[in-house]
Amino acid sequence: MVSTFLSPSLHTKTGDLASLHLRRDQSLPTILSTQVANASEQGYAEGVVTNTRFGSFPHSTIINVPWGSQVRASKVDTGSRGRTTKSHKKRKIDDDEPHSVSTPGESAQVKQAEVAESGFIHVLPPTPENWTTSLPHRTQVVYTPDYSYILHRIRARPGSRLIEAGSGSGSFTHAAARAVFSGYGRGRKAGKNETDTDGVQALKSEVEARRGESEPDDARGRVFTYEFHQERHEKVKAEMELHGLDAIVHAMHRDVYRDGFLLYDADQQTVPTSPRANAVFLDLPAPWEALPHLTRQGGADGAPSVLDPESTVHICTFSPCIEQAQKTVSALRRHDWVDIEMVEMQHKRVEVRREYTGLHYDGMRGVNVYGADVDEAVSRLREVEQRLKDFHAGKASGKRKQNHRQPEPPSRLPLDEGRLVHRTEPELKTHTSYLVFAILPRAWTEEDETAAQEKWAKNV
Ligand code: SAM
Repeated sequence: MVSTFLSPSLHTKTGDLASLHLRRDQSLPTILSTQVANASEQGYAEGVVTNTRFGSFPHSTIINVPWGSQVRASKVDTGSRGRTTKSHKKRKIDDDEPHSVSTPGESAQVKQAEVAESGFIHVLPPTPENWTTSLPHRTQVVYTPDYSYILHRIRARPGSRLIEAGSGSGSFTHAAARAVFSGYGRGRKAGKNETDTDGVQALKSEVEARRGESEPDDARGRVFTYEFHQERHEKVKAEMELHGLDAIVHAMHRDVYRDGFLLYDADQQTVPTSPRANAVFLDLPAPWEALPHLTRQGGADGAPSVLDPESTVHICTFSPCIEQAQKTVSALRRHDWVDIEMVEMQHKRVEVRREYTGLHYDGMRGVNVYGADVDEAVSRLREVEQRLKDFHAGKASGKRKQNHRQPEPPSRLPLDEGRLVHRTEPELKTHTSYLVFAILPRAWTEEDETAAQEKWAKNV
């Protein structure tokens, strides 16, 4: 299975996770058509019909359409097999109204068909962004404005090896998985030579190949995510499998304050290995307690350092209060981190639109509200609107009626350009966060210096 989070496939298909976009900031993650095991536990709408406040959407109308399609609500509601987000108004129609719903193992016969209030949805492929707005919250989550900045600052990119703790609800984990995934670049490149223009086949092979790997391999992008709450850990792990991201994300059940970040095999028989991380994100109540495990030195027992010895490491910690940030800064200093900086995130969404200050009405009656204040402009607009309605209803007004003439048609209403105004939208989903960033330079040994000198001499 190729993850729809990563795959650039063109059409929806059975078994895909889709994001049914209802309106801005509201979408419903839905597995298309099949009854996926544990789907309801995962918080998905399941079944073959998804009922929303905008109508009912049999999955048969959503499958095999190009991603991004607008799909109209079915005229027929089968009743509520899928999870219903909100009830919707219905009106009765004839019992034998045809419909296209097919339920596995059942005939598609609707006895009491009803028409739902018609609306539409857009069928979008899942992305970390729309997943974040619709995921089942088990904890506070990191929102898109924060994680996009964090991932940029810790230099997460294809091939990065990123440590995350705790996993929480997996919001950051999804974005991190996409950031470190190195399949797109290779896929596109390989695709060019093989007339696989989108690189789809190459990408599929890449993901399939990764699925076969039992141990993380040093050269590839990975997210190592740790969570000490058992149930949350299990949910994140299951989600990664369901979303086809488990080849990239290695989810572990661990108290990182106590046990750090090394990798153990399932029965802890072999010597632990290092994740060789070069990027770290700590969203923990006490990040300073995890910092002793993030040093260049390995353990006293000969265990290796969890950091990549050949790379600078970038870290970010996320804390809701300033006191936590202060403690983290102090601990970072003690553990050799440099370039320590704290950033307070305060995202605002600004709506920019044109405000019409006036309206020219160049009809026979010469309504002209240009320069009028808002109330006046609105009342004149209403007058024009009423006249438009009367015209279509065939009603003549006042004097014209007496003269038995046709009602006056409303004329063109050229709007002036208005002026640009903006207002801050208050409801942006995020929460106060103090982000502490720092860098741990790579250790430079005598051997490294000798090797560098030799390399330099060779190239000159
Ligand atoms: N970043 C996550 C997201 O975007 O969904 C949310 C993380 S949540 C705010 C913090 C998580 O850290 C909680 O799930 C908590 O159980 C976990 N946690 C707290 N202390 C921990 C520890 N010592 N080791 C591992 N996880 C820990």
